[in-house]
Amino acid sequence: MSHALQEIVSCMGQPVAGNPTQFMMERAFVATGLDWRYLTLEVSPENLTDAVRGMRAMGFRGGNFTIPHKVAVIPLLDGLSQAAELMGAVNCVYREGDKLLGENTDGKGFVQSLRDVTDPSGKKIVVLGAGGAARAIAVELALSGAAEINIVNRHAQRGQELVQLLIERVPIASQYIEWKGNYDVPLECDVLINATSIGLCDPSARVPVNANTLHSGLVVADVIFNPAESRFLHEAAAHGATTLDGLGMLVNQAVIGFKIWTGVEPDAGVMRDALEEFLSV
Ligand code: NDP
Repeated sequence: MSHALQEIVSCMGQPVAGNPTQFMMERAFVATGLDWRYLTLEVSPENLTDAVRGMRAMGFRGGNFTIPHKVAVIPLLDGLSQAAELMGAVNCVYREGDKLLGENTDGKGFVQSLRDVTDPSGKKIVVLGAGGAARAIAVELALSGAAEINIVNRHAQRGQELVQLLIERVPIASQYIEWKGNYDVPLECDVLINATSIGLCDPSARVPVNANTLHSGLVVADVIFNPAESRFLHEAAAHGATTLDGLGMLVNQAVIGFKIWTGVEPDAGVMRDALEEFLSV
């Protein structure tokens, strides 16, 4: 029997010609011998309610939801995971009986990737940015036992809101640091993460961090997956830091989604190869 999954993307006035997650999923279906399909469907905000009703009516097994639907979809669902509830955002919906449940796999994908190089437990972490990706990563790192997570962001309100969430809801030690000029990475920091959109499709974009404060004791991660080796990671590696690119996070969130929907553990290598082929890296 064939099953379908859907990715609901925003209506940006452009045709949807597939995306990296669809490419990875389709390859993994073939590799695991599952007769499933992953469709990329463009839905405008005013049609989201009907689209979710359609998912239920047509027996979709689940789907990914992306900007601007990650928050708006919540009242249309029957329940949320702890992480999705804390983050207030859902990127993965799955069916349990006749219920549609919300999960957030972005942060989980990041943490799984980080575990390849270090255990987040007990670590002092600095997150650059306070948007959706930063929120997902910070909450999941906090749930994974990090000792402290400080948020560096340009606009104070978003930064302070995330810090408040971490302190009050998780709870974990956290401070907001206003981002002005070049950020000096404190000596006690173990893991530095760029969770901003700086560098997306722009290899020359510079994340304003004082390169002289990067060193070999630091793990430096970037959420940017295109280009795979961002300028930020290139600079960090040149200063001896252990680096982690955004491809791993993207592959892992797809691996986690695949497992949630199908109950089958996919081959992460097949999905990584598919992603690299899609992005031509
Ligand atoms: P948001 O728009 O929600 O947040 C963007 C963040 O970047 C904000 O904190 C914003 O700061 C900051 N920012 C943007 N430009 C600048 C700048 N010039 N200087 C300082 N700060 C800046 O985006 P998301 O959080 O959803 O996504 C962020 C990135 O993460 C995107 O590039 C996305 O592609 C990537 N991503 C990667 C994933 C992966 O699997 N690898 C998964 C999900 C996202 P401010 O609040 O001050 O405006």
